[in-house]
Amino acid sequence: KARQDRPGGVMLFEDSMSASLRLRQHLGARVHRAIEEQAFFLLYQPQLSLATGRVVGVEALLRWRDGEQVVAPEQFIDVADSAGLMQPLGRWVLDTALAQQRRWREQGWRVRMAVNLSTRQIIEDDSFVDFVRRSLLQHGAAPGELELEVTETMVTEDMASGSGRLRQLRDMGVQIAIDDFGTGYSSLGQLRHLPVNRLKIDRVFIQGLDTDPQDRHIAEMIIRMGHAVWLGVLAEGVETTAQREVLKELHCDEAQGSLYAEPLDADELPALFQRLGVA
Ligand code: C2E
Ligand code: MG
Ligand code: MG
Ligand code: MG
Repeated sequence: KARQDRPGGVMLFEDSMSASLRLRQHLGARVHRAIEEQAFFLLYQPQLSLATGRVVGVEALLRWRDGEQVVAPEQFIDVADSAGLMQPLGRWVLDTALAQQRRWREQGWRVRMAVNLSTRQIIEDDSFVDFVRRSLLQHGAAPGELELEVTETMVTEDMASGSGRLRQLRDMGVQIAIDDFGTGYSSLGQLRHLPVNRLKIDRVFIQGLDTDPQDRHIAEMIIRMGHAVWLGVLAEGVETTAQREVLKELHCDEAQGSLYAEPLDADELPALFQRLGVA
């Protein structure tokens, strides 16, 4: 039969192509409606100074309430981004996070707000820098109170494309963190020329920090590498006190993870600010 002569992958490929196309169209319509119906919301996870134990920042994490269930970002962000939907959604995230930060500031809690960016938001949106500038003004935030989390590829592509949007944001005083650091290919030589303030060590290296010598060595190397070029280093996904103690020994600056708090609703944060103190 003709079908058996051909590698099975061809049929599968065509099938999955049309399936993902359908999914994309379906999701596209739903994401637009969801923004209108305010089905998206943010959770906030605290980031702490390892030296003082105080809260220095929070990271805004996107959720989608789809009927009864809450959908995690991994299940919709990549699809939404390739469908061009992360530009409106990403603007909504930035605006909502800065509005929340302002409410906390008015209550006397001054914390850095970290917001994740998707690839197309930075690579393809010509007016993104202006949007950030206007949002900061609108919400009365100093540029240094905002941190944008990007991936290694996003920074290097932004620099390679010559658009230098991250450089412009950095020059404005906005902080830039490389998220999931250690999973990409940045070299030490590159790092010192990138418009970046902080490295966030990917949690795969944090998991085995106290049990796997290799993980410990990698984390140690990233911390030294960051410090060598004057970058702050934050460990993500810290779950145990043993991991925290190793990070202190290695002079890591900041930590985030379920040991301190899961991502929380905005109204749960003030009690935590009160209990731990804010830097
Ligand atoms: P990320 O920026 O690296 O965020 C860290 C993820 O690790 C979050 O998952 C967080 O809930 C989870 N996490 C925090 N502490 C722990 C821990 O102790 N143990 C474990 N196992 N996990 C922990 P989440 O919220 O599902 O977000 C997943 C990814 O989705 C984020 O990874 C980020 O890349 C993306 N994302 C989230 N919100 C946004 C957004 O507003 N815009 C964009 N573009 N991407 C977003
Ligand atoms: Mg992040
Ligand atoms: Mg991360
Ligand atoms: Mg991640």
